[in-house]
Amino acid sequence: MPDMSKFHAAAEDPLSYARDLKKATGKKVVGYLCSYTPEEIIFAAGASPLRLFGANGPITLADAHLQSYCCSLVRGSLDNALSGRTGFLDGVVFPHTCDSIQRLSDIWRLNVPGCFHIDAVLPVKLDTESARQYMAQVMAKFRRELGEKLGASIPDEKLREAIAVYGEIRRGLRRLFELRAANPAVLGGSDFHSVLKAAMVMERNDFRAALGTLIEDLEKSAAREYRGKRLILTGGACSQPDIYNIIESAGAAVVWDDLCTGARYFDQADEPGEAADPLAALVRRYFERAVCPAKHRGLRERGTKLIEAAAGRKADGVVFLLLKFCDPHAFDYPYIKEMLDRAGIPSLLIEIEDQSAAADEERLRTRLETFVEMI
Ligand code: SF4
Ligand code: SF4
Repeated sequence: MPDMSKFHAAAEDPLSYARDLKKATGKKVVGYLCSYTPEEIIFAAGASPLRLFGANGPITLADAHLQSYCCSLVRGSLDNALSGRTGFLDGVVFPHTCDSIQRLSDIWRLNVPGCFHIDAVLPVKLDTESARQYMAQVMAKFRRELGEKLGASIPDEKLREAIAVYGEIRRGLRRLFELRAANPAVLGGSDFHSVLKAAMVMERNDFRAALGTLIEDLEKSAAREYRGKRLILTGGACSQPDIYNIIESAGAAVVWDDLCTGARYFDQADEPGEAADPLAALVRRYFERAVCPAKHRGLRERGTKLIEAAAGRKADGVVFLLLKFCDPHAFDYPYIKEMLDRAGIPSLLIEIEDQSAAADEERLRTRLETFVEMI
């Protein structure tokens, strides 16, 4: 059995992990929301990027600033900041994605003192040459601004090294997905989820090494052959290992996903050659990676990719994991569902919140069990 303790420690309490990392190494920690943040630039500046997930406990302070019909990811992140739980952060980066993250950025700037704040206003349309050029300018500005805030220089050499580290991590995560797609029994769902979450929390060199060891162990694994149903998850960020457990206890396993904490995070791993312009390589990745509904590249791309993923991984069905009040994903649901119906792929929509009550979990379990029985 591979040692999963490092992944679990980081995934179960990301804020404590990052606080301890800072204390032990003196490294600056930069929080970020959304997988469109060019983490490689933060890493190249010598800081440790930390993806901010929602709050584990009840949300109280954020309600004075945000409507209760904002998603729990945004409300929970603000609650963590207002309560001082993220007080150790040196800075926070807000990419220009969904409306909720944009509004959170304004509220954060006005109400959370003590750490720097950068908006990375990336283009929304990702299908024109002018948008690509604009994105190149935004990346260059972000590199300049971040360097100034951190008092660090970010030369091409450092950026190239950072892209190489991230390339290895992203290829490793893809390999992990492929191993689970071939036989989900090699690694339990909540262990798998901890690895994915830890990828956005752990010091990246430590994560790269731990992931490499895990993959070596799993490649040698003689796990029993998996005979249950095979599902694909689609949605935004998933920070709840319970979903994987509930799916497994319903007699299925997640064999691929279209989540920004999953396959959309490792899509388009890059390794620019020695001579290549590293910033151009980053622009290419963030421009061409699997698109999320807060961005735009054609009217049917997400649906088409999901159908391809379902066929390629022999999936029996798709589960839409919708965080309550997430407009971008709710708007995409009808057209994708219609495409899946036409392709004969069964699907189920479930709504979750980071602070789900036990009764909600029971309802979820029943719905998933019924779905798995049907497919
Ligand atoms: S779903 Fe899209 S906008 Fe929302 S956090 Fe993920 S990448 Fe960002
Ligand atoms: S994309 Fe949806 S879930 Fe993600 S931050 Fe925006 S509203 Fe919340």
